[in-house]
Order: sequence, then structure tokens, then C-alpha cells
Amino acid sequence: MYKIMILLLLSFLLVSTNTRAATTQSLIFVAVNDELVEFSDAKPFNFEGVTYVPVRSLATTVNAEVLYDPTENSVIVTKDNQSMKILINDNMYVTESFEKLPITVKTVNDRTLLPLRFIAEYFQLEVTFHAEGPIARLLDHNEVAQLTNEQLYLNNKEKIKAEKEKWKAAIEEEQMKEVDNSKIAYLTFDDGPNVNTAQILDILQKYEVKATFFMIEPKVWKFEEEVQRMVTENHTIASHSVTHDKNKVYHSPESLLNEMNTTRATLLGITGIDSRLIRVPYGSKPYLTKDYRDLLASSNLQVWDWNVDSKDWKNTTKEIISTVETQVASQKKKNNAPIILFHNSPNTVEALPEIIEFLQNEGYVMKAYDPDHHFMANFWNDNRI
Ligand SMILES: [Zn+2]
Repeated sequence: MYKIMILLLLSFLLVSTNTRAATTQSLIFVAVNDELVEFSDAKPFNFEGVTYVPVRSLATTVNAEVLYDPTENSVIVTKDNQSMKILINDNMYVTESFEKLPITVKTVNDRTLLPLRFIAEYFQLEVTFHAEGPIARLLDHNEVAQLTNEQLYLNNKEKIKAEKEKWKAAIEEEQMKEVDNSKIAYLTFDDGPNVNTAQILDILQKYEVKATFFMIEPKVWKFEEEVQRMVTENHTIASHSVTHDKNKVYHSPESLLNEMNTTRATLLGITGIDSRLIRVPYGSKPYLTKDYRDLLASSNLQVWDWNVDSKDWKNTTKEIISTVETQVASQKKKNNAPIILFHNSPNTVEALPEIIEFLQNEGYVMKAYDPDHHFMANFWNDNRI
């Protein structure tokens, strides 16, 4: 338990570091004399006014040598018989007179980055900056630099533009990932489709959010058009039995499987989509005992329950909203993606816009169940279904 807590804390710290990196780091180009330096695994960047540069890539261009010592996680940089040791974990460096001094070390993709000014000073290189690019240029007076800063920039203009676009795309991808990992909410609607379903679809369309519909077979025939629309508008369709009668559905494992397969086949016939997702009537507890789950697992069906219950079949509109808000908050504390149970009732239609706005304000993206990324969400914690 203790280890899990530490892991959770660490992953949280990593995520929040990434967010900060994505928003406040900016790309900077580094040149030595007349040449722009190529950095492959990690790029130099500005952070809070300091330019950090991958030490190994830079060192090679100024004829310095870099030795990494994995046992103490340190780097020794040597140039012209002068050397220093950087203790990465401690954010310290050791001078030739064995004095320990502080330095901010950054690590990106296993590369060690050090402040540019620090490296320049140590190697006695002059630093100039060019606003366009921007470029930090190191002048090594052992060799000749002929270009002006502007000429250097113009020579590399296309390369700089291309790198900047790549950097921007990488940051956007990072931000997308974060949305994917931590802030998804699932709206789910049971017992439809019915006369209210078109309105629910209208609201989902207006807010550009996706949902999952668990449907009852005879109603699917009656509201075919709505079912088609769910598919066209990228919601997920799923089965929720034929009779919804607990004596019939739970008569035996076979009767449950039969009802689900009938609904599944009807959905397939109407939409061309074969959905293996089901929600059993009244939820999987207590009815879905082991023999039921064994059969569902061997039939390759996936069962979703919920972790937020709007109780919209009995609640007023106001109560639906407050119930959802309270339960979403408690799922958030547990780091769970909320899976919210609704029905296709008039009160649900009325409450839905405010609930969507609440979730969006909380930073949630509402997605439909994705069969390619199934995760366990059943009251039995049975990972086979
Ligand atoms: Zn139901």
C-alpha cells in the first residue's frame, strides 16, 4: 500500500512537472561560432530566464569530453586539461579545488542539461544572443567566426522554422496525452431509446460531447432513427437486455446471455456495429454471481457498471445535478474517471446541460466508451469482463 502511494505521488509529480514544462519552456537555438549546433534527443530551452543546453551534444562541438558515471549519477566534463564534475542528483558541481557549488541541472530524455552561461564561463566562451530564432551564440576564440548574428540566423532560417513547428507539435501532443489520462468522464444512458433520446442527442451535439447508450431491444426497433444517429454522431451503442425483467433476465446465465445477444444482433443489423459492451439490468450486484460472469467472460462480452448514480428515475432536476456533482467530486478524489448513470427521462434532459457545463468547468472531456481501450468497471472487480 505504502509503495503504491509513493508511486501515485511520483506519477502525480511527473504529470505536474510536464504541464509546467509544456507551458513555460521555450525553444532556443544554440550556435558555436558560425554553425548551429544539432541536438537530437533533447533540445536546448529557456526556462524562467535561464537557457539550458544538453551538455554532451554541446561539448563535442567545442572539443570537450564528457564522461558519465552511472554509479554516482555524475558527469565529468573536460576541456583543455580543465575539468569539473556535476552531481546530477544533488544539483551541485565540484571544482578542481574540490569545492562543491550549487547548479541547476535539468534532465530530459536521459540527457543532462546545464545552464548555458555556466558552461560558457567554464570553457571561457563568449555568449551573445540574437532575438530572432532566438539564438544563443557561443564564440570560441580559438577559432574564427565570420558571420554576423543576423547572417547566422538567415543561413538557418528554414531549419529554425521547421524545428519550432516540431517543438510546438510535441507540446500539443503532451497536453493531449494529459487530457486522455486523467480527465475523462463517461455519460451513460440506460433503458432507451425512447421519446426523450432525440433531445439528449441534440444536447450532446450542441456541447460536442460523446456518450454511451445501453439499450433495450424492443425499443431499438421503435426508435431506429435515434440509434442510427448515435452511431453517425460517434456515440457508443451497447446492450441492456430485452425484457429488463429481473425474473426473466436472471432466470439463468443462459437467459441473460440470450437477451444480451438478441439486443446485440439487432443493433448490428440496424447499424452494422457489433458491440460487445453490455450493462446488466439493475447493475451487476447482486445478480451477476460467478456462474453468470463465467459465461459472459467466455462469450467475450464486457460489462460496465457505474460509479456515479444520478438517480434520475426518482430525483428532481435539481437533485440530479447536485447528486452528480457530489459523486463526481468523490470519484475525483479517488482518481477515478466518473462513469455516470442516467436514464432517458425528461428530468435527465433538463439536468443535462448544467451537468455537462459543470464537468467541462472541472476540466473533464466527455468521451464514449472505447472498445479498443476497455477498462474494468464492474462492481465485482472481475477483470475478465
Ligand atoms: Zn435499466
